Amino acid sequence: MLDHLKSNNRAWAERKVGADPGFFRRLEGQQAPEYLWIGCSDSRVPANEIVDLDPGELFVHRNVANLAPPQDANYLSVLQFAVDVIKVKHIMVVGHYGCGGVAAAVDGQRRGLVDHWLHPIREVAHAHRAELEVIPDGRPRLDRLCELNVIRQVRNVASDVFVQDAWARGQDLAVHGWVYSLSNGLVNDLDVTVSRLEEIERLG
Ligand code: ZN
Repeated sequence: MLDHLKSNNRAWAERKVGADPGFFRRLEGQQAPEYLWIGCSDSRVPANEIVDLDPGELFVHRNVANLAPPQDANYLSVLQFAVDVIKVKHIMVVGHYGCGGVAAAVDGQRRGLVDHWLHPIREVAHAHRAELEVIPDGRPRLDRLCELNVIRQVRNVASDVFVQDAWARGQDLAVHGWVYSLSNGLVNDLDVTVSRLEEIERLG
């Protein structure tokens, strides 16, 4: 079963060791990534690959539509571990244009549990309805909603007590908002970086 994947795995491990004989031994010894990536589960948005980082260099949390919900124990556990234990220096919330999760949040169809998961996006759409209504319906409007969703999640992360406590004790930590483009492979920095408590307000 899945023999092609196992053979891919063996070839990959051999390539890694071929290029750097100490690669896995060194990785085993420590996990000290400087970055936490909060991204979408979409298979076309592979975190390490997009920023060309090796295993061990990026701590990753992915879910449908890259949400950072303040009540989600999974996300909170990752966030606390990243901030308090690994002491990452940067947290990137990374959305992507053409996100199916963002589209599903506002298309009015019922899908079940995921409708609850995506509810925060409907709240973002509602809060920004005046801005969104003047954008042509369809892809352009959804892409702006992808950006607004990322900004909202940056605000969630920056408002979290783990992050605020880290800033209060002088820890070096910045929260960034990016949107990845499936069509050209490039990341768009939304320029909403928050690296101090006082900067949250400018996110609106
Ligand atoms: Zn997505």
